[in-house]
Amino acid sequence: MIVIDGEQGEGGGQILRSALSLSGCTGQPFVLNGIRAGRKKPGLMRQHLTCVLAAAQVCNAEVEGAEVGSKSLTFRPSGSVYAGNYTFPIGSAGSTTLVLQTVWPLLAIADAPSRVTVTGGTHNPAAPTVDFLTKCFVPAIAALGHRLEVTLHRHGFAPAGGGRVEAAIEPADGQTSEPFALHRRGDLVLRRAVVHLANLEPHIANRELDVVRKKLGFTRDELHLEELDRVQGQGNVLTIEHEFDHVTHLATGFGKLGVRAEQVAARASSEVRSFLATDAPVGAHLADQLLLPLALRGGGTFRTVEPTLHTRTNAEIVDRFTGRTTRIRPDGDGTFHVTVA
Ligand code: ATP
Repeated sequence: MIVIDGEQGEGGGQILRSALSLSGCTGQPFVLNGIRAGRKKPGLMRQHLTCVLAAAQVCNAEVEGAEVGSKSLTFRPSGSVYAGNYTFPIGSAGSTTLVLQTVWPLLAIADAPSRVTVTGGTHNPAAPTVDFLTKCFVPAIAALGHRLEVTLHRHGFAPAGGGRVEAAIEPADGQTSEPFALHRRGDLVLRRAVVHLANLEPHIANRELDVVRKKLGFTRDELHLEELDRVQGQGNVLTIEHEFDHVTHLATGFGKLGVRAEQVAARASSEVRSFLATDAPVGAHLADQLLLPLALRGGGTFRTVEPTLHTRTNAEIVDRFTGRTTRIRPDGDGTFHVTVA
C-alpha cells in the first residue's frame, strides 16, 4: 500500500488525481491522508469526488472515504480497467477537464475504445480549458502513441456550470519507436486571440482584445470575439494561442466580477511574454501535465520554462508509483531540461 501525504509540495488536488490514474494503471493501492491540505478549503470538493468515483468505476476499485469534505481516501484498484461508455456529472461548475485527465490514462490501457462524457465547467480558472486540452495537451501526447479526441459540446463557466465535454479514447498504440523528446518549438505557424463571451456586453471582449493588440502586437485579423448562446450564466474567457511547428502554447485569462477586463488581458499577455522570452517549447502548465503520460509510456525528455511547485510535486507522485526518476535541471539560459527515465 502506497501511503501519500496530501500536504507535500503543492498540497493540492493534483496529488489526488495523479494518484488515482497511477494507481489504476499500475494496480497499486494507495491511501492519501491530508487531502488538499495546502488549500483554503481542504478535503474533497465535488470535482475531486467525481474524479474518485469515475476512476473507481473505470478500474472497479474499492474505495473508503469518498465523500465531499473527506480528508483521507483509500483506493484499491481491481487490477483491471474496463472500457465503456461513461457519463460523469460533476453536479457543480467543477472542472470537467480535470475529471477527463484523471480517467483517460486508465482507459488508454483498456483493450477496447471508450467514450467519456463529463458535465460541469469546461473553462475554469486553475484548470486546463477544453481548448487547452484539444490544442496543447492532446497533440503533445499523440507523440506517445495516445489517440484521444476531445469534443466540446457546450461551454460551462463558473459558477453556473452546465458545460458538456466528450472524449473518445482509443487504446494506446504499442510502444513508440522513438523516445519522446520535445526540445524545440519550431517556427511560429499561427497566432490568434479569442474571447468567448456568454451573456455579457461585447465591449468587455473588445477591451480585452485591445490590450492584446497593444501589448503583444497582434493585428486586427488575429483578434476574434465569439459570442456564445445556449450557455448558462455569464462567461468571459480570453485565449491567446501561439501555434508552432512542434507545439502549441495557450495562455488563458478568466474574467471575474470586480476585475477589470484590461487586467484580465494584461495578465494573460504577460504570461505569453514570459513564455516568448525563452525558446522552451513546453509552458508551465503543459510541463506538469506531461509527466504522468511520459512516465507511463517509456519516459522521455522535454525543455520547459521554470518548473512550478506543481510540476515538482507531480514528479514526486509519478516517481513513487512508476519507479521512474524525474530529473529537472537548469540549462543556464532560463530554460529547464526535464528527463523522465
Ligand atoms: P485544487 O486543490 O483546488 O484541486 P490543484 O492544485 O489541483 O487545485 P492547480 O494546481 O491550480 O490545481 O492546477 C490543476 C491543473 O490545472 C494543473 O495540471 C495545472 O497545470 C492546470 N492548469 C491550471 N491553470 C491552467 C491554465 N491556465 N492552462 C492550462 N492548464 C492549467
